[in-house]
Amino acid sequence: MSRPPAPIEQLRDLELLLNAHHPILYLEAEEDERAQALLEHVADHLNLLFLTWTPHRGLAHPLMPEPLEGTLDPGRCLQHITGSSNESLYYLRDFVPLLASDTALKARLREVHQALWKHRGAVVFTGHSSAELPEDIGRLVTTVTLAPPSDKEYHRFLSDMLTDLRSRRTVKVEMTGADVGKLLQQLRGLTFFEVKKVMTQAIAEQWTLDVSAIGKALEAKKEVLKRTGVLEYSPAENSLDDIAGLTRLKRWLRKRRAVFDNPDRAKEFGLSAPRGILLLGVPGCGKSLSAKAVAREYGLPLIRLDPSRLYTKYIGETEQNLRRATRTAEAMAPIVLWIDEIEKGLGSETGGSDGGVSKRVFGSFLSWLQEKPEGVFVIATSNDISQLPPELLRKGRFDEIFFVDLPNADVRREIMTLHLNRRGRDAATFDLDAIVAQTDGFSGAELEQAVVSALYAAYDEGAELETRHLLAELAVTRPLSVTSGEKLARLREWAVGRAVPADLAPGEAPNSLPPDSLPQGSEPGPGSLR
Ligand code: ATP
Repeated sequence: MSRPPAPIEQLRDLELLLNAHHPILYLEAEEDERAQALLEHVADHLNLLFLTWTPHRGLAHPLMPEPLEGTLDPGRCLQHITGSSNESLYYLRDFVPLLASDTALKARLREVHQALWKHRGAVVFTGHSSAELPEDIGRLVTTVTLAPPSDKEYHRFLSDMLTDLRSRRTVKVEMTGADVGKLLQQLRGLTFFEVKKVMTQAIAEQWTLDVSAIGKALEAKKEVLKRTGVLEYSPAENSLDDIAGLTRLKRWLRKRRAVFDNPDRAKEFGLSAPRGILLLGVPGCGKSLSAKAVAREYGLPLIRLDPSRLYTKYIGETEQNLRRATRTAEAMAPIVLWIDEIEKGLGSETGGSDGGVSKRVFGSFLSWLQEKPEGVFVIATSNDISQLPPELLRKGRFDEIFFVDLPNADVRREIMTLHLNRRGRDAATFDLDAIVAQTDGFSGAELEQAVVSALYAAYDEGAELETRHLLAELAVTRPLSVTSGEKLARLREWAVGRAVPADLAPGEAPNSLPPDSLPQGSEPGPGSLR
């Protein structure tokens, strides 16, 4: 039976804590089996007796046929630990929920805490987040976060799995080294249990491990993301070349691509991976398009986080949702994490009407943004600066804040060309000058929509698409710049001096140097939206 390999890299951290007599530890881990493999390894290394407690068996050594008498009862189990003079590592599984409403059990745990100061050994709990511990118990506990499995661990697990299967029947492997590399990359973020399930299914179809396993691993990963309720896998269909304008933004992104291509070489050169950008701006002008294009340009998976789905009515769950989402994202790195409409969940504060939840979640999110590991490139998008607290805009959160404005005449021409050509028409046969002249204040999305509507009109008429169809559709469109003119004016006013324009100014030479990064963190001034 293949078991998760022990994450040896984390051995030292745990040993240090145990040698420093931390009596109660909480190991934040996605998978109990993997945590147990590590704990067994540590116990062995430090010459400690290893005992596990489970609600159906009580306290026992994994190789003992019978558990210690009476220890099925959680209180008696803790009593046993307090009274024992053995130097032991006790792994108490599924124990934390029992503490929630049991004052006597909590008192017993405090006794354990006292007793274990006297000699080496510790009690260990595992779970997704130590926030689940009752507050008074949380103070006694040291939290350790188990890093996600490395490619090496996944490789070892797959090899063990194959050996195990081959002891029962013949299994062919038809993969090159590069294919295996891609498979390992696709497994990132899956627990070993999930890996076993999906790989066994993939192999069992033909008793062969081949490239089809890579696609199956991707499907399993999409499922894992969906289960978080907050994250989803987003296909990155378009490239930066499919975006008209946004010249400065595209140049910034292209310049950083090489760092993702070869992070080790970049690191040697003194460069660390870019952390992320915030795209603020007018709706329908290419922010989402840019997020998708970056993932494709950098050759990374795109994972979308919907912040409005973080919130639940249950106490503590919202924070846990954020924690789980960021951990899942980290486990899947390197990735592009697209936080769509960041103001919808991570920006606005509800003035304390939710018991401070939004404030706490926002605080945790800011810390994560600042401390997140390399390999998670964040693209946050927002249309509404009035909902974004100034802290989010301070230096260090994002590498750059870009402002995406309505397209100027040159860019509108490019957008029309792109969308006409994409639908099998030759843009050069249309009167683009007339179209550009009639579309001042139109967003990219509105221009695209006009092309689609004009196609319907022409089709209905039984005619080929002509400029007149386009002009007629544009004439009846009331663009957002008219219906929400004031809001857009305030947004633009705010952006001056606070965000880098994503596009070049009219007449600005394409090869002119971009302005230096603007100072970040300037608070919205009077007259602006906050
Ligand atoms: P929102 O804030 O409302 O989500 P957005 O800025 O994210 O808007 P997108 O979803 O990127 O807007 O754009 C909507 C559609 O408009 C795109 O799918 C694309 O077809 C078209 N579009 C917008 N801007 C451009 C552009 N610069 N080049 C080409 N197409 C564009």
